[in-house]
Amino acid sequence: MSWFPIVIADRCDGCKGEFKCVSFCPNGVFEARDGKAWVVKPMACVPGCTSCAMLCPREAIIFPTERPMKATASSLGVRDKGLLRKVRCKGCGKFFWTNVEGAEYCFSCRRKMSLRRMMSEGASG
Ligand code: SF4
Ligand code: SF4
Ligand SMILES: [Zn+2]
Repeated sequence: MSWFPIVIADRCDGCKGEFKCVSFCPNGVFEARDGKAWVVKPMACVPGCTSCAMLCPREAIIFPTERPMKATASSLGVRDKGLLRKVRCKGCGKFFWTNVEGAEYCFSCRRKMSLRRMMSEGASG
């Protein structure tokens, strides 16, 4: 597996000029351009290292392990990728991607909850 970060450009705000990942990465993987961080030396990244993602205040840096989920989100037709966030579901505890503000439950938990609600409404009414 080739290991290097991807910056979700719409999320990166350059740390308001601080460019934390750019100054942090000892291998010069990032460069600041037009107010955002760009991956300019992907092959200089150390396999398994995710330090820069940890310090990114915007959660704009993702790694190969997270890419399949993002691909799923985009294949589901999420339109505004800039607002995509990774959230831990309060129901099942799994991580999911969402662009819904304040979303707390993954799609399958929400579906289960609405089914349950429909059934109880059906029973009482
Ligand atoms: S740390 Fe995150 S927000 Fe800051 S420059 Fe890097 S990618 Fe952009
Ligand atoms: S994971 Fe480590 S080596 Fe790779 S870009 Fe981030 S800080 Fe640099
Ligand atoms: Zn869930």
